[in-house]
Amino acid sequence: MVSPRGKIKLNLEIYKTIIATTVRYANVKIPEEKWAEVYGLLYGYINGDDVIVTEAIPFTHTKKQRHILKVEFDEEDYALAASIETEEFYIRDPPQYIVGWYHSHPGIKLMLSQDDVKNQLAWQTNNPLAVALVFNPVRLLKQIEVPARKGDPIKQLHLDTGFLNFRLDDPNRGLEAAFHIVPFEFTDLKLDETLISNAQEFVRWVTRAFPKGDDVISEYQRYTESNLQKLDEIYNGTNSYKNTLIRKGENHRIPQVVENQSQEALKVLEQGNNMINIFKIMKNYLEYKERERLIPQIDDILNNWDQRTMNYMENFKNLASKEQ
Ligand SMILES: [Zn+2]
Repeated sequence: MVSPRGKIKLNLEIYKTIIATTVRYANVKIPEEKWAEVYGLLYGYINGDDVIVTEAIPFTHTKKQRHILKVEFDEEDYALAASIETEEFYIRDPPQYIVGWYHSHPGIKLMLSQDDVKNQLAWQTNNPLAVALVFNPVRLLKQIEVPARKGDPIKQLHLDTGFLNFRLDDPNRGLEAAFHIVPFEFTDLKLDETLISNAQEFVRWVTRAFPKGDDVISEYQRYTESNLQKLDEIYNGTNSYKNTLIRKGENHRIPQVVENQSQEALKVLEQGNNMINIFKIMKNYLEYKERERLIPQIDDILNNWDQRTMNYMENFKNLASKEQ
């Protein structure tokens, strides 16, 4: 057994990035056979024997079905990763660089597959302390280690983050190299019951926030439009009922009717606002190459919601005060 050198130190934001980018492509909304693996890089620096990870950047996910355990970087990804390293990280103090990579094993045991060993060889040859972080959201949610083979005993876990960090024992052995686990710690929080239940709750948020397919924009558009339409319907319905009451000379009933309907409207508005807030958080966890194209479009959709709902309740209450 090789004893690990040092520790991996990471923070909550990195953990959230790994959860969000993984769960987007592997959650209860998606049939398990369509779950995809994600691949990202860990940037940071080395302090003694410790790896200090300062940021996780999501790059890509498996595009082909049944391609699990095969997530790969292409030429374009390598070039982009290197330019991010130079332009965004090397200029920091202390200079930062790629210290490893992360990928997901959704519903699959945490270990390094043959392809993972091949990837890790490349990183670890460049930097002997480079690390491979592997995350399985099912492990986090169920607090169990999925057996390597169906039917093998399931191992119960306690306070498990759903990820492990691996390093090759001896990269000189090439593809034959065995691997070991490197311990980690969070720099800005304690690993306790609260962290685990918050992380599990975050998985559920991500599941709600991302559509089944890749088309975030049309899903967000559809969601906001349908809720704005519901709000309009409640408003217009109340307004026409008010006119009926006026025609019938029952003006005294208007305040009560408006009050009742405004409760209904408030429920729809609050539900919409909650979801919009989740969309706002999730736009920070798009893959790097998507950001430039998608974030402005998402901002437009979210701003449209904000603008159109800003004075909604005030206008609604005015239905009662403005006697015609
Ligand atoms: Zn793997």
